[in-house]
Amino acid sequence: MNPIDKQKVLKFKEVLDTVTGKIALVPHINPDGDAIGSMLGLSRILQNAGKDVNPITPNAFPDFLKWIEGSDTIIIYDKNKDKVKELLNEAELLICLDFNQSSRTGDELGALLEEFKGTTVLIDHHPYPQGFTDIEFSQPDYSSTCELVLHLAQALGYEEYIDLNVANSLYCGILTDTGSFRHGVSDPRTFKSVSELIAYGVNPEEVNRKVFDGYSANRMQLMGHCLSECMIIIPEHHAAIMWLSLETQKKFNYQKGDNEGFVNIPLSIKGIHVSALFTENDHQVKGSLRSQGDFPVNELANKYFGGGGHRNAAGCEIKDMNLEQTVEKFKEILGEYEELLKKTKLD
Ligand code: 5GP
Ligand code: MN
Repeated sequence: MNPIDKQKVLKFKEVLDTVTGKIALVPHINPDGDAIGSMLGLSRILQNAGKDVNPITPNAFPDFLKWIEGSDTIIIYDKNKDKVKELLNEAELLICLDFNQSSRTGDELGALLEEFKGTTVLIDHHPYPQGFTDIEFSQPDYSSTCELVLHLAQALGYEEYIDLNVANSLYCGILTDTGSFRHGVSDPRTFKSVSELIAYGVNPEEVNRKVFDGYSANRMQLMGHCLSECMIIIPEHHAAIMWLSLETQKKFNYQKGDNEGFVNIPLSIKGIHVSALFTENDHQVKGSLRSQGDFPVNELANKYFGGGGHRNAAGCEIKDMNLEQTVEKFKEILGEYEELLKKTKLD
């Protein structure tokens, strides 16, 4: 566990003390619980400190995050390009959350972030940061960006600005990014952080229900269909591949976020330690990769598909192959990792 750099905290504090204008906050594209939780948690902390905060997402975010306080104030770049451009022109400070390279917000918005004139700050837990901000809090040893935001707020002396809404928001990100405390939680510090959030009044059962028990019946049926018709198990490679075509999505009235969690399901099969889900979109195929143990899906995602993420959870966007070709390619790739995959067998 690496402590947060005190010099950087002082520098950030100085910036926050002097900023009088707008602050823009941006997480990665297709924002998840950690992206939205860290952005809205920090937004509220800064708002409680009297700052003018402006949360922005590159594109829409799933319904199961809409209960988080402040989610209705988010400006979605995809839908309000002019407004976001104007905001980024006016803002004095830009805070990037939960991503490690500007293109993770999409090519267009990424270019706008690169051109930003004011001070820029990164708060993130992905490995291999690309160094695109003035002040970088990059801590891959953290379970989630939300946990890092909590500790950063404490290091800034902002405890008084943490309220129940902040705590709910940050708890949501820790819960979702650790797969409900299944991975990335070997450091006792994470449970200490959670305990602190509960002390602010977070009700874990309630958050769990809001996040995981708000899906449609269609989504459950889609999951059943996907598991029975669109999944192959490759026992010799300890792997499973799932796919979701546009046709299938249409059949089950697919809504954004409906595939959330699907990729984790095959990992519950004995002997399966690598799982991939490929979801067809209008212009590309979105890949989600998961593993257990040492198998680095982020390296695979980066080497073959230009993606990235964490060792056990990574993603990519595939623009030069269709769904079927992607699945075939992934089978081939697994063949290339044969030796390493043999060693991934866990008890
Ligand atoms: P998910 O499968 O949930 O979309 O993403 C899992 C992890 O991989 C997250 O940490 C996410 O930030 C990262 N990730 C997802 N898609 C991409 C991508 O296209 N490029 C990169 N570099 N990382 C990704
Ligand atoms: Mn995260």
